[in-house]
Amino acid sequence: MTVEWADGHRSQYTSVALRWLCPCAFCRGEAGSPGWLDSMPELSPEQTQIVNLTLVGQYAVAPVWGDGHDTGYYTFESLRANCPCPACTASRAGAAGG
Ligand SMILES: [Zn+2]
Ligand SMILES: [Zn+2]
Repeated sequence: MTVEWADGHRSQYTSVALRWLCPCAFCRGEAGSPGWLDSMPELSPEQTQIVNLTLVGQYAVAPVWGDGHDTGYYTFESLRANCPCPACTASRAGAAGG
């Protein structure tokens, strides 16, 4: 999946990386309890395959995964914050110290 931002920046996400970023309560946990992804599960090909992608208003996308999981809303803000390109990765590493 490729996102082209208003400032001209381009972010490219593999579906596997996106699955690991799933922000839903099931994957991430809630109220301090760990989620499914926190147990470092082995993801099947179905679980990392995007079968549909829905735009949620102007602020998020909701992928439907091959295993039927569809509760993760990825805001563009969080997608940009997790941009995997070398420049963004480097700037995140630089900012992580604080
Ligand atoms: Zn999820
Ligand atoms: Zn980037």
